[in-house]
Amino acid sequence: MAGSLVDSIACAWPLAGRRLLPLEAAVALKPWFDRSTLQKGFSLLMQGTVGRFVLYRSGAGAVFNDSVAAFLLMPPSDALPQGYVCRDGSCTLCRGNRPSGRRCRHQAAVALLNLRTTGDFAGFVPVWRLLKSNPWGAIARYLQQEAEVGSISFQARKAGAAWRLEGCKENGFSLAVSLSRHLAQQLHCFHGSAIRWHDSMPEQDEFGPPARAILDKIALLTATDTEKRLNKAGSRSIGQQREDSIQTALVRLLANCLCLSPVCASSGAGTAPSA
Ligand SMILES: [Zn+2]
Repeated sequence: MAGSLVDSIACAWPLAGRRLLPLEAAVALKPWFDRSTLQKGFSLLMQGTVGRFVLYRSGAGAVFNDSVAAFLLMPPSDALPQGYVCRDGSCTLCRGNRPSGRRCRHQAAVALLNLRTTGDFAGFVPVWRLLKSNPWGAIARYLQQEAEVGSISFQARKAGAAWRLEGCKENGFSLAVSLSRHLAQQLHCFHGSAIRWHDSMPEQDEFGPPARAILDKIALLTATDTEKRLNKAGSRSIGQQREDSIQTALVRLLANCLCLSPVCASSGAGTAPSA
């Protein structure tokens, strides 16, 4: 998977570098996936076939090199020891082909890609759960607060093979991040218009439209009844506005690439992470 999107998040993805699907991952997803499907999904990831991934609230999705797009929701649940369930979702290739109700290898790949480990819990958890307890969650809240009392303006420029993204505000707030090509494309796909691109932009590719379609589906499925009424009236809830923001997307992207320990978070404020 060298050079792939999955490769670019390998530092923080607990399944990276494994030759075989770890048993704990198969056990964690057993209620929804059989072992053979998970192994096939894992192989898809290891072969570097994911061109774009989508994370929004409890939902996760991916667009594969052959244009197949799949997603599912992994929301919290007290009923299972995992602390979450897999529900809803679809695959553009395999829909209707699973009369058993079991899910396909593409959805298995998405579920596996969404698994993370936290320091306080031995098992695997979805990314949303990681952000809840991880220092990245605190960083996301801090950035949201900053953005809500005066917008942050973002600009990006190419620096060698990477992209340097900077955000600043009139009050002196500033941040700088170095993004790999894959991650810059990922951010550009969903928040390209919120960034002033100097000289050039990340290359547009075929993964953008299906990835945005998945995002829309997840956004619809994760909206509360109140939010649906608000959306019908043409407005967004505060929760949705935060979810939709470039700050949230950026933190999620960085949390996917960089492990951050509590010590690192308290001593590293103001530094520029590289991803
Ligand atoms: Zn499928």
